Amino acid sequence: CSDENSNSEILQQKTQQHPCYSAGAHRRYARMHIPVAPACNISCNYCNRKFDCVNESRPGVTSEILSPEAAKEKFLMVKEKIENVTVVGIAGPGDALANWPAVRKSIALIKAVSPETTFCLSTNGLMLPEYAEEIVSSGVRHVTVTVNCLEPEIGAKIYKSVTYQGETYSGETGARLLIGNQLAGVEYLAKQGVLVKINIVMIKGINDQHIPLIVKKVKELGAFITNIMPLIPAPGSVFETYSQTSMKDINEMRNLCQLDIQQMRHCQQCRADAIGLLKEDRSTEFRTCQSEVGS
Ligand code: SF4
Ligand code: SF4
Repeated sequence: CSDENSNSEILQQKTQQHPCYSAGAHRRYARMHIPVAPACNISCNYCNRKFDCVNESRPGVTSEILSPEAAKEKFLMVKEKIENVTVVGIAGPGDALANWPAVRKSIALIKAVSPETTFCLSTNGLMLPEYAEEIVSSGVRHVTVTVNCLEPEIGAKIYKSVTYQGETYSGETGARLLIGNQLAGVEYLAKQGVLVKINIVMIKGINDQHIPLIVKKVKELGAFITNIMPLIPAPGSVFETYSQTSMKDINEMRNLCQLDIQQMRHCQQCRADAIGLLKEDRSTEFRTCQSEVGS
C-alpha cells in the first residue's frame, strides 16, 4: 500500500511538470517530441504528413525521422542545452503504435540514460487492444488518444481507411473497428492508472454537434482531460477546402464540455519534432533536413 501511495505521488508530481497535462507547467517545463513514428495505419481526411524544412507548425509535420539510437543522441544534446525538458513525447508524424517496436526501443534507450524523464505518446488508438499492456509495463503513464466520434456514420466521413491485422477497411466498417478499439483501449489504460488525454478534432458540419457525447463517453471510461482542437485544413488533405474551425466555436464547445471534464486550453498543435516550451519552439536549433516522409 505504501508503494502504491508513493507511485501515485510520483505520477502526480510528473503530471504537475508535464506542460500539456498541467496548464501551470507549460511556461516552466519543456517537452521534446522525438519523430520516430513515420507510419500510420489509418487515413484521416484531415491529414497530410509531408516532410519539410520550413517553420510550419502543425501535427504531422517534421523535418526528420530518427532511429531510436539517433533519438537518444538527440535527447542527450537537447538535455544539455535545455535543462527543463521533463517530457519526451512521441507524436508522429504517423501513429506511435503503428511504429511500436521503434517507439518502445526509443523509450527504453532514453529511460536508461535519464530515468527521471516522463514519457508520453499519442495515438489514434487502433492498436491499443494489442499494445496497451506493454505501454503500461514500459512505464508510460500519459497517453493521448484522438477520438473524433462514437458513430461509424460520422467516422465514415472522417476516416478514409483503417488497416488492421493486414486488412484494409473503409467507410463505416473501418470506422466501427477503430472506434471500438479506441474506447476499449481508453478504458483499459484508465483502469491501469494511465492519465488518458482525449484529443478531438472539431470539424464543422461533421462532428461538432456530437462532441459533448464523445466527452461524456470518455469521461465515463476514465479519461483525465479532453483537448478539443480546431480542424487545420492541411494542403493536400481531403479536407483541404474546409474552413479552419474558429477559436470562438472551439472555446464555446470547451466551455460546454468543461461541465463534464477538465479542458486543455493551451494546446499549440505542435509539430512531430517540436522541442522546448510550448510557446517557444526551439526545434530549428536541433534540426537537420532530410527527404520526404512516406505515408
Ligand atoms: Fe494522419 Fe494521425 Fe490520422 Fe494517421 S492518425 S492519418 S498520422 S492524422
Ligand atoms: Fe502538448 Fe498539444 Fe503540443 Fe501535444 S500538440 S505537445 S498536447 S501542446
